[in-house]
Amino acid sequence: MSAFVTRFAPSPTGFLHLGHALSALTAFDAASAAGGRFLLRIEDVDQTRSRPEFEAAILEDLAWLGVEWEIPVRRQSEHFSDYRAALQKLHDQGLVYPSRRSRRKAMAGEGSAGEWIDSMEAVTAESLSESPIAWRLLLAAARSALQTGWQGLGFVEERVSREGIERIFHPAEPGRLGDAILARKDSPASYHLAVVCDDALQGITHVIRGEDLREATHLHCLLQTLLGLPVPIYRFHKLIPDPVTGRKLSKRDGATGLRALRRAGASPAEIRAQIHEFSG
Ligand code: GLU
Repeated sequence: MSAFVTRFAPSPTGFLHLGHALSALTAFDAASAAGGRFLLRIEDVDQTRSRPEFEAAILEDLAWLGVEWEIPVRRQSEHFSDYRAALQKLHDQGLVYPSRRSRRKAMAGEGSAGEWIDSMEAVTAESLSESPIAWRLLLAAARSALQTGWQGLGFVEERVSREGIERIFHPAEPGRLGDAILARKDSPASYHLAVVCDDALQGITHVIRGEDLREATHLHCLLQTLLGLPVPIYRFHKLIPDPVTGRKLSKRDGATGLRALRRAGASPAEIRAQIHEFSG
């Protein structure tokens, strides 16, 4: 039997909606089709936003949908030492630097790597304890550390259709996210650092996620290489747009929340039928 291990990794910061149902069912069905394993991971590394009541609701909604997962469930909040060790490894190689930029400013500055290096110099000259510190990846140093390996960076995407599975190699463009935040003062790991550690520690061979995380995958394969972790195969599913705004569904969209649909009388089979057209 070929090894196939995949996962669904929700953050307990709200209730699940149709988009989550699509992710969870796509991964669960793929594992069943491959005779593989399906794992659940609770991405509660951001303790300021995660709530136990959302985690309980997620487990209940998934069970109602008919998704079955292995026990124990990995909860990021129980593994902070893994993320600290990974950050330390990058730090020891001179690949991270402290930064005081806020998350919002970081988003606005995507792609401008040179700017972050300037901010590093400014920060190291001041007292680091004065304001919240984040640790950022120093892209320029990562590039020199990998030398010619930088050119070979990339990930394999699998596209599944009725005709079979097509594999496409995507050369990585990790500069797309700039010098990404890897940890914050109030959190030992950002989503990016935690997700690459967890996928490796859980032996994930296939990451199945929404198209919205395609860009982040370019950074993830760089982090995996720098940390000496395997790069899994990736599959991306379409996103379900909000029926009113046309934008990506958010946790605030009550109408597409699984609980609301369930209360309105929807069955798991009806949920499957609703998401079917987006599952390509
Ligand atoms: N917690 C992330 C989310 O809910 C995980 C997705 C992933 O890495 O595939 O979007």
